Amino acid sequence: MDGPQVGDLNLWNADDLSERFYSGKTRALHGTHLTTGMRMWSGFPNLRPMATIIDDTLGWYGKDEFGGSVHDVIGTRCDPYTHKLLTDNDYHHCCHSNLTRALADETGLSMAKAEVLVHDVLNVFMCTGFTRDTGQYFMKASPVRPGDHLEFHAEINLLGALSACPGGDCSAKHSSDAAACHPLKVEVFEGHGDPAPRNGYNRSHGR
Ligand SMILES: [Zn+2]
Repeated sequence: MDGPQVGDLNLWNADDLSERFYSGKTRALHGTHLTTGMRMWSGFPNLRPMATIIDDTLGWYGKDEFGGSVHDVIGTRCDPYTHKLLTDNDYHHCCHSNLTRALADETGLSMAKAEVLVHDVLNVFMCTGFTRDTGQYFMKASPVRPGDHLEFHAEINLLGALSACPGGDCSAKHSSDAAACHPLKVEVFEGHGDPAPRNGYNRSHGR
């Protein structure tokens, strides 16, 4: 809203939290970064579109000279476990923890039960890619500016959580309170229509 900020988005079926966004399959179906016309898919056995992107004000960014782009489904989410491994410090405001607290607050689930429902994210506004020479994941300052937005059409009844990443625009440090952070705004518009059908596979798996 008032400065560059990336967000980590989780989506669940509001009526069945075991159905959630599947970033790996979405990446396989659409590519490493999402933009207008692409969909966020749920995991097995449902494998159906949860949301379709209908507007992206950062669509102009395309792919930069380093192979970077925005709104990735390659990063996971910043989390206190990796941070502990790398630094031996406890940090409590990574996206994983923010999403866990939000889900627990909204549903009344315990923190332990909520945590296992948190999943890999759509990295809204984040600018990432893989280095051309070594294929390693990189992130760089997000080009997002106040007023930019992503707009989705919900394909099923959704519960969503969005974490303003403590990395801010992700140009420097993660997993600390060092980066400048800004609020993200979520607006929900009323809609109607039939939910996307569940995947038609008969689930016999050959038995
Ligand atoms: Zn984060």
